Amino acid sequence: MKKIIIANWKMNPESREAARALASATDAAASKAASVNVAVAPPFPYLGEVAAALKHASLGAQDVFWEKQGAYTGEVSARQLKDAGASHVIVGHSERRMYLGETDEMIGRKTRAALEEGMTAVVCVGERERDGAQTPSVVASQTRAALAGLKRSMLKRLIIAYEPVWAISTSRNTRGACSPDDMFRARLIIEKTIAGLFGDQASRSVRIIYGGSVDKDNIAAALADGRMDGALVGGASLDPDAFAEILRRAAAV
Ligand code: PEP
Repeated sequence: MKKIIIANWKMNPESREAARALASATDAAASKAASVNVAVAPPFPYLGEVAAALKHASLGAQDVFWEKQGAYTGEVSARQLKDAGASHVIVGHSERRMYLGETDEMIGRKTRAALEEGMTAVVCVGERERDGAQTPSVVASQTRAALAGLKRSMLKRLIIAYEPVWAISTSRNTRGACSPDDMFRARLIIEKTIAGLFGDQASRSVRIIYGGSVDKDNIAAALADGRMDGALVGGASLDPDAFAEILRRAAAV
């Protein structure tokens, strides 16, 4: 299966014009890395703009609501995202867990809503503390919650992003590098959790990717030694040259 590299722009950039330019540059880089799947997740207001610029990369969103329609001010449904051209959606990012109070239960409902609508859901899991003691329990329980109520047939459109919160580039106080060994260890926890619920074969159909300060210097090791199926890239996805180099190196693995 092709590796997937997903750009999470978070609440950037500050204008439609800048979003258009970044999307075009990203798409040009994606066109040269045909052996890798690329998806770009801009803020909601830029979905249309970015959709128009992408020819070689998929469009993603950064969040989705679990209901299909109705009186939910400020929320966006999976159907609306699809109608805007998005095929992928990030769910349960640690920043949403932290700043917006998203719970495992909410994340499970969002995941199900996205998958029921035929989208690819990119569910973020990961521990907050660096010492590693929490990793097995946090990663397993967040993964289990994301899988609640899913059908086996949906799993091929599920991506679990292992994002240790302490390794995200903006977690400045605790920032550190996650080693490929630790990535692989998290992969085994995620696979075992999925296998416990759906069986070994089903667990192999879920892609497991890594996020946390991914750059040109660590992408190859994450994919090769960490045995990751791809990466979720925050900060470096805002720099077209840095992102292009990540894609080049991912394509060479
Ligand atoms: C993220 O927060 O999803 C992320 C991967 O960020 P960064 O690459 O900046 O660490």
